[in-house]
Amino acid sequence: GDEGLDTVVKPLPLISTSRSECRWADTSSYATNKKLQSWFQLPNGNWELGKILLTSGTESTISLPDGKVLKVKTESLVAANPDILDGVDDLMQLSYLNEPSVLYNLQYRYNRDMIYTKAGPVLVAINPFKEVPLYGNNYIEAYKNKSMESPHVYAITDTAIREMIRDEVNQSIIISGESGAGKTETAKIAMQYLAALGGGSGIEYEILKTNPILEAFGNAKTLRNDNSSRFGKLIEIHFSETGKISGAKIQTFLLEKSRVVQCMEGERSYHIFYQLCAGASPKLRDKINLKIASEYKYLRQSNCYTITGVDDAGCFHVVTEALDIVHVSKENQESVFAMLAAVLWLGNVSFSVVDNENHVEPVVDEGLTTVAKLIGCNLGELKLALSTRKMRVGNDTIVQRLTLSQAIDTRDALAKSIYSCLFDWLVEQVNKSLAVGKRRTGRSISILDIYGFESFERNSFEQFCINYANERLQQHFNRHLFKLEQEEYIQDGIDWAKVEFEDNQDCLNLFEKKPLGETKPSVSDIMQARLTMIQLDFWRRIETYYTWTLSSFSLHVEQIHKKLSVATKFKGQLFQLLQRLENTTPHFIRCIKPNNSPSPGTYEQGLVLQQLKCCGVLEVVRISRSGFPTRMSHQKFARRYGFLLLENVSSQDPLSVSVAILHQFNIMPEMYQVGYTKLFFRTGQIGVLEDTRNRTL
Ligand code: ADP
Ligand code: MG
Repeated sequence: GDEGLDTVVKPLPLISTSRSECRWADTSSYATNKKLQSWFQLPNGNWELGKILLTSGTESTISLPDGKVLKVKTESLVAANPDILDGVDDLMQLSYLNEPSVLYNLQYRYNRDMIYTKAGPVLVAINPFKEVPLYGNNYIEAYKNKSMESPHVYAITDTAIREMIRDEVNQSIIISGESGAGKTETAKIAMQYLAALGGGSGIEYEILKTNPILEAFGNAKTLRNDNSSRFGKLIEIHFSETGKISGAKIQTFLLEKSRVVQCMEGERSYHIFYQLCAGASPKLRDKINLKIASEYKYLRQSNCYTITGVDDAGCFHVVTEALDIVHVSKENQESVFAMLAAVLWLGNVSFSVVDNENHVEPVVDEGLTTVAKLIGCNLGELKLALSTRKMRVGNDTIVQRLTLSQAIDTRDALAKSIYSCLFDWLVEQVNKSLAVGKRRTGRSISILDIYGFESFERNSFEQFCINYANERLQQHFNRHLFKLEQEEYIQDGIDWAKVEFEDNQDCLNLFEKKPLGETKPSVSDIMQARLTMIQLDFWRRIETYYTWTLSSFSLHVEQIHKKLSVATKFKGQLFQLLQRLENTTPHFIRCIKPNNSPSPGTYEQGLVLQQLKCCGVLEVVRISRSGFPTRMSHQKFARRYGFLLLENVSSQDPLSVSVAILHQFNIMPEMYQVGYTKLFFRTGQIGVLEDTRNRTL
C-alpha cells in the first residue's frame, strides 16, 4: 500500500547542481581553471577552442590553436568538454552542454563521416553531400543483430519495429529539415531497412519502386536541391502479425502545381518532363507528337534542361520499369505520357485578339490541335474552354469571354490541373498495387517526409502552406518532447523541475487567424524571423481557385468549375495527418544542411546552429538529460520482468513486484522514479532487464 510506496519512493533531488547549471551558452557559471580548455567566440561568430593561460580578475589570457595569444573577458569564455568526450554518440553525454560544445561534437563526427548523432531521443543527420560507407546489407545485418549500435537511421528504424511489436502500438518516423537537408534520402534509407527486415512477400520490392516514380513526377531541380521534393509524403507500411510487410499506403500532400507552368531561372519543372523528352522511344514520340524539351515554352522559360550527373533518358527507363512493377499497364503508361505531352503543348498555345474589347481566342496551330487530340476533345470545345468562362449569377449561368491575361491564366490552370490529376491518379494506382489485404490485423510504421521550411523573396501561396505545415509539425514535436513529457511527470507525481521550451502556438495563431494585423505576438527572435519570412497578409490574398477537373482520363473535357479553397483543403489534410500521427509512437529525425553550396566537407557553424535552434534540438537534449525518457506502467513492468524474480511474488500487487525487480537488479535509486501509475527510468536503464529477459526467454 501507500506505506510501501513511501519507503521506496523518496523524492530525489532530480537535477543535481552541476546539471542545472548547464545552460545553453551559459557563460556565467564557468569556473576558470587553468588546465581547462575553453571556447572563445571569434568576431565572425565561429567558436575557437583556446587554452586558458592565466586568469586575473575579470580577464583571462588564452592561446588559440594558431598560436595567437589573446586577453579576453573571463565571462565571455564558455566551458569546453575534456578531450575524452570528443565526438560522443549522444549529445546527452556531454558534461558541458553549450552551443559551441554541441557544434564541435557534431562537426568532429561529421569530419569522420559519422553523419548521425543522437540528441537524446532525436536522431540528428547531417547531409554529407557525398557517398558515405554506411549503408547496404552488411550494415543492415549489423544493426539487425545489434553488433552495431552507433546512431543511424537503421537504428531508429529498428527501434520503431521493436516498439511496434513490444507495445503493440503503431509507430511513426517523422523526418524534418530544410530543403536539401536530406529528408527524402533519409526516408529511403529507413524504407530500405524496413524492407530488409520485413521482406519476404515481394511487396517490399514494389514499395521501394514507388520512390523513382514519385520522384520523377513530384521532384524537380531547384536552386537549393537538384532533386527537391515538391510534395509531402506519408508512407504507411503495414506488417502482418508475423512481422512481415503486408502492404503499404501512400498519402501525398500539396503538390506544387505552379511549377508546371512557371519556374525560376536555373530551376526545372518536374523531372518526368525532361525524362520523357529525352528517353521516349521513336514510336512513342510519334504517337504523342513529342519534341525535344527546348521546343516547349513551359520548359524553356527557366533556361535549364539538364542536371549535372543525371541521365534523364536513363531515368525514363527506370521509371517505366518501376511503373511495370507496380502494375501500371503499358496502355495506362501511354496515357500518362500523352497527358504529359498535352501539358507541354498547352504551354505553347498562344492567343490572338478577336474583337475591339480585347477578347482573345487561341491560335489554331500545332500546339492547339495536338492538345485537343491528346486529351480527346474536339477543337471547338477546347477553343471555347480556353477563351470563355462560365459564371453563375443567381440561378443563371453566364458565359464571359476572356482577355489575354485571363486566357493565359485559364490555359495555365488547365495545365496545372491535368498534371495534378495525373499525379493523384498515379498515387492511386500505386496504392492499388500495394494495397493491404482486407484482413488488416497487424501494425504499421509510417514515414513522414514533408517539405522543409522555405523562404524566398516572394513567397507563393504554396510556400505559405508548406511553412504552415512545418509550424504544425514543430508543434507536434514540441508536444511530444516537451509538453507531454513534462505533463506526464507532473501527473504521475514525479518531482520535476520544469524546463522551458519555445512554444510556437503564437506563430500558429498567426497562420490560422484572419485577418492578421494589429496584434503583435510576443515571440522570440527566431520565431520572429520565421514570421517575417512568411507574408503575414497572405490570407487576404488567398483567392479561391477555380479548379478544372477532368472527369476522367479516357473521356477528359467536361469542365467542372469546382470552387475549391486550396487552403481549406490543405488545412483539412494537415489536421487529418496530425491526428493520425497522434495515435503513433513518434521517432524524430532532424536533417541538417551543413552548407548552402552544397558541397561535401564544408561545415558552417552558424548555419548548423540556426537549424538546431530552430527546431529545438538543444532543449530536447537538456530535457532528456535531466529526465526519465523510458517509462512503463507498474502492471506492464511486473508482467514483463516479474518472471525473472528469484522469489515467488505471484500473489503480490504489480507495484510490489516492480519494486522487487528494481531491487534484485540493483537499479540505483537515482536512475528511476516511481510514479502513481508508472515507473520512470533514465536513459539506458531498462537495457539490462531487456537483455536478461531476452536471454532467459
Ligand atoms: P530534402 O528531401 O531534405 O530536400 P534530399 O533528401 O533530396 O533533401 O537530399 C538532397 C541531396 O543531398 C541528395 O540529392 C543527395 O545528393 C544528398 N544527400 C542527402 N542525404 C544523403 C546521404 N545520407 N548520403 C549521401 N548523400 C545524401
Ligand atoms: Mg525531399
